Amino acid sequence: VRILGIETSCDDTGVAIYDTEAGLLGHALYSQIATHQEYGGVVPELAARDHIRKVIPLVDAVLAKTQCDRTHIDGIAYTCGPGLAGALLAGSAVAKGLAFAWDVPAVGVHHMEGHMLAPMLENPAPEFPFVALLVSGGHTLLAEVKGIGQYRILGQTLDDAVGEAFDKTAKILGLGYPGGPAISKVAELGDPTRFKFPRPMIDRPGMTFSFSGLKTAALNTVNKHELDQQTIADIACAFQDAAVETLVIKCKRALQETHINRLVVAGGVGANRHLRKELQTMCDKQRAALFFPRIEFCTDNGAMIALAGAFRMHQASDDLSFQVKPRWPIDTLLPV
Ligand code: ATP
Ligand code: FE
Repeated sequence: VRILGIETSCDDTGVAIYDTEAGLLGHALYSQIATHQEYGGVVPELAARDHIRKVIPLVDAVLAKTQCDRTHIDGIAYTCGPGLAGALLAGSAVAKGLAFAWDVPAVGVHHMEGHMLAPMLENPAPEFPFVALLVSGGHTLLAEVKGIGQYRILGQTLDDAVGEAFDKTAKILGLGYPGGPAISKVAELGDPTRFKFPRPMIDRPGMTFSFSGLKTAALNTVNKHELDQQTIADIACAFQDAAVETLVIKCKRALQETHINRLVVAGGVGANRHLRKELQTMCDKQRAALFFPRIEFCTDNGAMIALAGAFRMHQASDDLSFQVKPRWPIDTLLPV
């Protein structure tokens, strides 16, 4: 069975074709970073308009690249939430229109389920059960995963998502948007001993996160120092070390408390090399296996949506109506 996946929840237009036997056949991505950069963040209306312009050309490109034509596609998966309403509407409407024109069923996919399953595009793929750390621009959560749609949330953030904290701290440091890659790049030049930021919530039991204090710690440090290149690098380094160490401590707790020895990490912050390295060290000590998507499938992409759609194709419908869900808690999904 071949599934065409369409992702448009935020500022990336992603399209991919996934074959349930042969795996991922091909994918393409259009990033809107250049569109939003001058505003310092994503402008929802511009995002929606850009998706409308790009989806069909990307579908054509992926079909050509994979030497498929429309008759080879058995179903369409599209992100219907959570995300920006206008962006979701753009992708969902195109997906439903294509499904009608091609006479195939379409299924709405949960964006975070897509992120969570992305490591299954790799070899070896994680088996169930596993602990999942989802770290992205809008989410920070740990979940116990027993199967598709069987998600028990172990802890979430009380305030900012960790990706959001990277983005806000980057803004404070004048590093531009998106902040995650910018911070990790300059942090390499930083002196990790100069500033020490708090590790939020680690003194309390449980797996709840809080990241807004780290951004404040960065702001207070900026206000007290001359902001030369070295100081920017040192603050970026202190911020990244604190964010990463906090995530690693909570992941260790999650593995211990669930007695599960597989950890899956997904979402844009999963692309952070320092996080990947520190999690690997922790997992080696805990004798746990660690699974990541490749770097390009950490941030938004069509491949993860095509894959998640493959698992949920039985929920697809031929009917033309659709509903986007800008807010959609992942633990309300049904098991398959
Ligand atoms: P969500 O998936 O919660 O709806 P989103 O789709 O906007 O949010 P993603 O595309 O998964 O989020 O990830 C984007 C986030 O990842 C941004 O906050 C970005 O700064 C962060 N990010 C990307 N690369 C890195 C990196 N190397 N280090 C740290 N953060 C990173
Ligand atoms: Fe995302």
